[in-house]
Amino acid sequence: MSTCELCGRHPVKCTTHHLLPKVEGGTFGETANLCIPCHKQIHALYTNQEIAARLTTIRSLKEDAKLRSFIRWIRKQSPNTIPRTKKSNELRKKER
Ligand SMILES: [Zn+2]
Ligand SMILES: [Zn+2]
Repeated sequence: MSTCELCGRHPVKCTTHHLLPKVEGGTFGETANLCIPCHKQIHALYTNQEIAARLTTIRSLKEDAKLRSFIRWIRKQSPNTIPRTKKSNELRKKER
């Protein structure tokens, strides 16, 4: 359990997000601890290419308009709540 670097909630179960996506060359790059809903939201909103182009810092993620409204909302949710994030068709294909 730790603190999410994006929404600041704690204690929450965190996952490792590569600030520069692995597929874009970030395998050994910087990472951030993100709670599951924040992490899912980033990847639901942006492709790895978009993240690599302009969202490779926590600061730029926090300042992004779409994520900002999500963060405002998630902050009010209890750390125990894991909201459902709709999976994109692309993700579903990968899991098959
Ligand atoms: Zn979070
Ligand atoms: Zn990630």
